[in-house]
Amino acid sequence: MQKLKYERPLIKKMNAGPMSKFGNSACMQPVTQIDGVPVKSLIAQFGSPVFVLSEKQIRRTYRTAARAFKTRYPKVQFAWSYKTNYLNAVCQVFHQEGSWAEVVSGFEYYKALGNGVPGNHIIFNGPNKKREDVLLAIENDSLIHIDHFDELYNLLAICNTINKKPRVAIRVNMDIGVYPVWDRFGFNYENGQAWNAITKIVESGKMQLEGLHCHIGTFMLSASAYGIAAAKLCDLAQRCKTQLYNPIQYLDLGGGFPSANTLKGAYLPSADTIPSVDDFAEVITTTILGYDFKQDELPLLILETGRALIDDAGYLLGSVVANKRLNDGRQGIIMDFGVNSLFTSFWYDHKISPAQECSQHTENMVVYGPLCMNIDVIRESINLPLLNPGDHVVVHKVGAYNLTQWMQFITMRPAVVLIDEQGQPHQIRQPETLEYLEMMEQVPAHLQQKVQV
Ligand SMILES: *Cc1c(COP(=O)(O)O)cnc(C)c1O
Repeated sequence: MQKLKYERPLIKKMNAGPMSKFGNSACMQPVTQIDGVPVKSLIAQFGSPVFVLSEKQIRRTYRTAARAFKTRYPKVQFAWSYKTNYLNAVCQVFHQEGSWAEVVSGFEYYKALGNGVPGNHIIFNGPNKKREDVLLAIENDSLIHIDHFDELYNLLAICNTINKKPRVAIRVNMDIGVYPVWDRFGFNYENGQAWNAITKIVESGKMQLEGLHCHIGTFMLSASAYGIAAAKLCDLAQRCKTQLYNPIQYLDLGGGFPSANTLKGAYLPSADTIPSVDDFAEVITTTILGYDFKQDELPLLILETGRALIDDAGYLLGSVVANKRLNDGRQGIIMDFGVNSLFTSFWYDHKISPAQECSQHTENMVVYGPLCMNIDVIRESINLPLLNPGDHVVVHKVGAYNLTQWMQFITMRPAVVLIDEQGQPHQIRQPETLEYLEMMEQVPAHLQQKVQV
């Protein structure tokens, strides 16, 4: 019989106690299945770790957001922010729901075309658009959002070589009472730069100024900030009409609504503190409706919501590698996924749940990833029951940005699975392999001879 390893005893405060407003922290609800599919079978079929997305949840969240805006304003259009999650299967769910595409790079632009999005339903943002991509976007009647004066001058130069008026908007940055202001993108409202750019575009007669755009930040906790942003865009739009006789067709309020994740260092769980999508919709739509646009000139309201639409549909399933008692007495637990796959653990305290029945006794733990790096910490401090090597866990609300910002570092990127509305799992991205990795490498001839070392 194997001898049990000695573990020194530890005296700790019990976490048991009455239910508080935030639930009983000692009560551990295991998450054994996702949309009816057992975690165990997902890991058996697709490996560990594995990202799992719920199509049902994506559609539910999207419809809730769309309803919040469409019940308050007659002309609303969402455009899926590709960089938030550009797996084609995910983009297609949003496109099926009626979303346009919002892209910030040439390859995302091509992805949107490949997903069948018509050119005139693609919004092209970002400070670094390549000339050939811009030419294609013009040809396809896409909406080009100009970021800075050099881009404006480049576009004007392109206009002299073609027989077509590009459809454009400018990105506007502004003081919305939340600091620091994101002033590195777009033209400033307060100092007159935005108005200056608008005037240049309209007076050139070479482009069609159709919209005004802003993206005031990300994970914005203030709904009123969007009221200020909408008001400033409306002010520019009205001046465009009265002073330049150029009515504005659409106002694009960008993204930035928070998801229900808890930011690191936050005192309360996010779900209890963030404004709802209804709060944002109410502020934005009442502000626009408060301006005296004629009924038939009411601008289309575009939203480029990213993380708030996909975060809660994403799960990372993983396994315990080992337990480790730290010198300071705390329990450390090593998982088979690290910060390389879970990029958002740098700013969120992600919820982690055991995936099987477990003890109700919890202990404060540090959750480590498997990388040989000190920074590979998923949670600095979390109450979990003791888990055994091989046990599974579920990390919640990881659908946004992880599948675009993940790194192939020490470990390969894992598989991604989408569970459809009927509860059927589909692998939508294979786990990476050494072969895939080395496909991009080239060894010069003089280094190809293998030597004995
Ligand atoms: C990233 C980005 C978005 C999406 O932002 P979220 O904070 O995820 O909603 C929208 N618009 C632009 C221009 C972006 O860069």
